Amino acid sequence: MQDSRETVLKIAAAQKMLLGSICLSIGLNMAVSVCRPSLKDLGLNTFAAELGIIAVALVILAFQAVCVIRLGLILNEMMMAVLCAIGQVIPCVNLGLLLWLNSRVAARLQKSGIRVDMLPNEKDLANYHPHEFRIVCPSCRAESSSEFDFCPKCGTRLVANPPEQG
Ligand SMILES: [Zn+2]
Repeated sequence: MQDSRETVLKIAAAQKMLLGSICLSIGLNMAVSVCRPSLKDLGLNTFAAELGIIAVALVILAFQAVCVIRLGLILNEMMMAVLCAIGQVIPCVNLGLLLWLNSRVAARLQKSGIRVDMLPNEKDLANYHPHEFRIVCPSCRAESSSEFDFCPKCGTRLVANPPEQG
């Protein structure tokens, strides 16, 4: 069964947030490994700096947990989401879990015909209109999509007819 437009857009938005959080944690790890050796040279209070790094890491972790649980709710796979959220506290395992979850999400979107490279294809998202068809206005003959109740051109009430067969 195809996902509704609403579901697909929700999944795509949550997937973008998830990827964002993955980039943030990779960025933080890289920044820390680059900056840590030079903290002493700069005469900075290393204890305060370490606390700051931990604080930022915790914020990213919380953000990731929110993304993961949100995806679990949308995909109806709460067990998986909870396991991934718990796995976030284990170093190395966390990134693997996030990437695995990301591939699950990509597969789900691809099922609905949305191409996913790193991010879902914006054009595919914009053009994703399942179970929709065109209606011709009885008054001005303008075509509009079935999501409109009234003709966007003349305001005539549109009666949705199933698409003509043949
Ligand atoms: Zn009209």
